Amino acid sequence: MIASLMPNYNRIDISFSHGEGVWLVADDGRRFLDFGAGIATSALGHGHAGLTRAIAEQAARVIHVSNLYRVPQAERLAARLVDASFGDSVFFCNSGAEANEALVKAFRKTMADAGKPERYRVICADGAFHGRTLAMISATGNAKYLAGFGPAVDGFDHVPFNNLNALRDAITPATAGILVEPIQGEGGVRPAQIEYLRGLRAAADEFGLLLGFDEVQCGMGRTGRLFAHEWAGVAPDALSTAKGIGGGFPLGALIANETVARALVPGSHGTTFGGNPLACAAGNAVLDVVLAPGFLDDVTRRGARFRSGLEALAHRHPDVFSAVRGQGLMQGLVCAVPNTEVQSACLAEGLLSVAAGDNVLRLVPPLIVTESEIDAALERLDGAARRCKPGLYADAAK
Ligand code: PLP
Repeated sequence: MIASLMPNYNRIDISFSHGEGVWLVADDGRRFLDFGAGIATSALGHGHAGLTRAIAEQAARVIHVSNLYRVPQAERLAARLVDASFGDSVFFCNSGAEANEALVKAFRKTMADAGKPERYRVICADGAFHGRTLAMISATGNAKYLAGFGPAVDGFDHVPFNNLNALRDAITPATAGILVEPIQGEGGVRPAQIEYLRGLRAAADEFGLLLGFDEVQCGMGRTGRLFAHEWAGVAPDALSTAKGIGGGFPLGALIANETVARALVPGSHGTTFGGNPLACAAGNAVLDVVLAPGFLDDVTRRGARFRSGLEALAHRHPDVFSAVRGQGLMQGLVCAVPNTEVQSACLAEGLLSVAAGDNVLRLVPPLIVTESEIDAALERLDGAARRCKPGLYADAAK
């Protein structure tokens, strides 16, 4: 008989009673250092006083009113995101996939409004992940996610990541834009080269295309800048973000420049829940922390400490880890043994992590992680590496 909760995930057999900062406490009392953060989502960790107060106070006042009315919490959050980014206007939704859907729709509509409806295709990168809706599994392009769900939605072309010549060669008179993650997350914490991001902007300008960055995972402070593309010093025409923006409360956003934002006129796109008072109260509470003076510089500093510790770890255990990559508090260990084996060993050491593509172990702690928690995670990773060494595993596991 099938489980009443649909079995579409391979869940680890642990459930948590509560969390405290970077720690999650299991029902059986075991304490885990959470370097998965709900897949790069619990930006402020667990039980954060400011975030929980904002949610509780807003929930007691009003949770939902619909987008038939003004929502001051959304207006404030949008204004703050515009002030802090390249963007001129923001559309709120509930997830990363929805933010990408809005982005692609806005790109198509911008072209149609400009009298070029034949320009509807979007170029995406191999190794990308853009979400699980029908259009976004096509944008993702990975056969694993498309299997059984065909036919694929038309309108997406794929080129090798970090290869500017391949991207320029793929541009046709039907191309509307480009959608790329500045750091591929699910694909295995693969950073785009700075020159690649700059080259994307130049190609978009040269061919009259729209440039979109998917910062669902790498955005909202994770790399030490509010958005990861800022390191390259180029601005997209539109950006999707989600995950960390609500600190674990479902919230997504399309941030766009005026040209793209003007395409989404009343009636053209919408959502029941997106941008409701509760979600936006959460978003504002996250921004209170992330935009506080010095916070992002501190993410960079703590990220650098984590990175050098990971490099030393990989150096000590070359038979378990072959490389380290990522930026800030979005780091990946390329594994020389199956990443799922390392993930299980981490779990046994009391450390939560997330497997990613390319045999990578993803380490994406809450942005509030302290230096001593980073050091504790590095110790646990060392213990996990020892467990994974062929021959030693049996001893270590005793
Ligand atoms: N885009 C990127 C880069 C992601 O990492 C994800 C989720 O992992 C998504 C889009 C989809 O987001 P969601 O699961 O919130 O729909």
